[in-house]
Amino acid sequence: MARLDKIYLGTNTKMYKTISDTVAFLSELKELTADIDRTKMELFVIPSFTALEAAKRTVSDNSIKIGAQNMSWAEEGQFTGEISPIMLKEIGINIIEIGHSERRHVLGETDEEEKGKVLNAVKHDFTPLLCIGETLKQKDYGISDEILSMQLKIGLSEITKEQAKMLWVAYEPVWAIGVNGIPADEGYADEKHAVIKKTLISLFGEEIGSDIPVLYGGSVNNENAECLIKKPNIDGLFIGRSAWNADNFNKIIHAVIPLFFEKK
Ligand code: PEP
Repeated sequence: MARLDKIYLGTNTKMYKTISDTVAFLSELKELTADIDRTKMELFVIPSFTALEAAKRTVSDNSIKIGAQNMSWAEEGQFTGEISPIMLKEIGINIIEIGHSERRHVLGETDEEEKGKVLNAVKHDFTPLLCIGETLKQKDYGISDEILSMQLKIGLSEITKEQAKMLWVAYEPVWAIGVNGIPADEGYADEKHAVIKKTLISLFGEEIGSDIPVLYGGSVNNENAECLIKKPNIDGLFIGRSAWNADNFNKIIHAVIPLFFEKK
C-alpha cells in the first residue's frame, strides 16, 4: 500500500474547554510544535462551537487547522440549533467532523444523515472527517468489516471521485473510545484500516482511494501511540483525552513523527 507523505494528528475536545481554555491550549500547542515542518504534518484541533472564532484567530497562520464537531446537512432554514456551512465558512473553519460515535450512539444520527453532512461539507469546500466504527456487539458477532464497509458505502454514496480527494476518515471503534474504552491493539486496528482502505479503493479507484488518510482513534495514549503509528495502514491518530493537555499531546506528536516516516 502506498504511504502518504504527511502524518495526520488531531484532537476533538468534545464538550470540554471554554473559549479561554481553547485559546490557551492552542497557543501552547502552536509554540511547542513550531519546529515541525507542516508539509509533513497535518495538525488539527476540533473545539466547541463557541470557541471556534477565537480558535481561528489564535492560529490564523494555519499551523493548526481548526474543525467543527458537527454541521447541518442543510445550508440554512428552519432548523433550530443546527449549524450552517455558511456560518462555519464565515469564520474560516477547515474541517468538519462527521459521525463521531457520540453523535451516532448518544444523539441517534444515522448513516443517511452522515451522508447529507458529508455532501454539504464537500459542497462548501471543507475537509469532511468521517468517523466510523463498530460497536462491541457488532465486533462480537464478527461483523465489524461489514459494518465499516456499510458506513462508508452509505456515508460516501453520493461523493464523486473528485470530491473524494478532500476526504479524511477516522476509524474509531465504539468500544475503544472514552473513559470506559479499551484501546484496540495495533494488529486489530491495522487489520480494520486495511478493510477501510480496500473499501475506499472499491468506491473511488486505486489512485484516489489509497490517498485518503485513515486515522485511528480510541484511547490513544503515550503507551500505545508508537505501536499504532508503526502499522502500515495507519496514517494518523485522532486523540481524545491524552491530547487535551498541550504538553502531553506534543510528547505524542514528537514521538510518532519519526516512526511514521521510518515506515515509508
Ligand atoms: C474520541 O472521542 O474520538 C476519542 C478518540 O477519545 P479518547 O481518545 O479519549 O478515547
